Amino acid sequence: MAVLDTPRILLIYTGGTIGMERDYTSGALRAFDFNNLLQQIPELRQVDCAIHSVAFAQPIDSSNMDLPHWKQLARLIGEHYDNFDGFVVLHGSDTMSYTASALSFMLENLAKPVILTGSQLPIGDLRTDAKENLITSIQLAALRENGLPLVREVCLYFEYKLYRGNRTTKVNTEHFEAFESPNYPALAVSGVHLKVRRELLWNPARKGVLKVHTSMDNRIGVLKLFPGMHPDWAATLLRNPGIKGMVLETFGAGNAPTASWLLEELRAAVGRGMHIVNVTQCIGGSVLMGQYETSSSLKDIPLIDGRDITSEAALAKLMYLLGAGVAQGSFKTIFETSLRGEMS
Ligand code: ASP
Repeated sequence: MAVLDTPRILLIYTGGTIGMERDYTSGALRAFDFNNLLQQIPELRQVDCAIHSVAFAQPIDSSNMDLPHWKQLARLIGEHYDNFDGFVVLHGSDTMSYTASALSFMLENLAKPVILTGSQLPIGDLRTDAKENLITSIQLAALRENGLPLVREVCLYFEYKLYRGNRTTKVNTEHFEAFESPNYPALAVSGVHLKVRRELLWNPARKGVLKVHTSMDNRIGVLKLFPGMHPDWAATLLRNPGIKGMVLETFGAGNAPTASWLLEELRAAVGRGMHIVNVTQCIGGSVLMGQYETSSSLKDIPLIDGRDITSEAALAKLMYLLGAGVAQGSFKTIFETSLRGEMS
């Protein structure tokens, strides 16, 4: 029987609460030295893998995440891809779902785990959730089956659950259970046993070598509908010539007011080449264009059907497809195709 070598995990620290420790004299939070990780978290010695760490030169609060950081992350993973079996990205929770979504598109043909995690309390706090999140993420990233990584997608691990990253959304500012994946079940649950639901893992029919896409076009926006919206507001966003893609956050199963001014604005914007995706404002469930009269006209315009995609993933997908220069004629069809398991 072949003896497997120890899995090698690369830990990438981008910033956020997880990497903070409290100075008990002043009470202030300061960055944790990730190069001394093993010394500071002795529990990690029990995890059967070799951990290497690298940190952003300037760790950031995730509210400051921007395209250059996503590119840096994607490149880092690409550069170290052959030397590691899995990647754990430590990230502030505020924008973690956006980064997870973006990375899922930027890393095409990913065949190793990239697990984003963070915490609500700093790693040094007595009641911290950081240690469990970090330790289990590393364990999950090191899982192998028949010598190959078990998880082969971008995930988010938080409070005992592993999720497909591009299905998640942050739902709570203070609960340890800060994330949900409303339209796709958790891929793994950590209890007394680490239960991985293999049948839910991403396993595309078409496989190939990793391709790192760093061209993301951010000439996009979000238009959230609300009762009483002034026509000028919709016009400001939809008539902006610099904006190429829009996530239209609609009511319920993809419904919008039938007011002619709104439908005309949308139709004209699509006519000018803007890609408009219908995504529901609801936390869970799917857009069903045509189910109600209030969505039939949206279907006829035609808007792109976002089905059960999250706004976070829709934004990332727009940036990715625009960055890839997808032709106008095939954009809608490609957007409506699940590329990384981001929609049902
Ligand atoms: N504001 C912090 C951040 O997202 C919160 C956290 O670390 O979870 O970076």
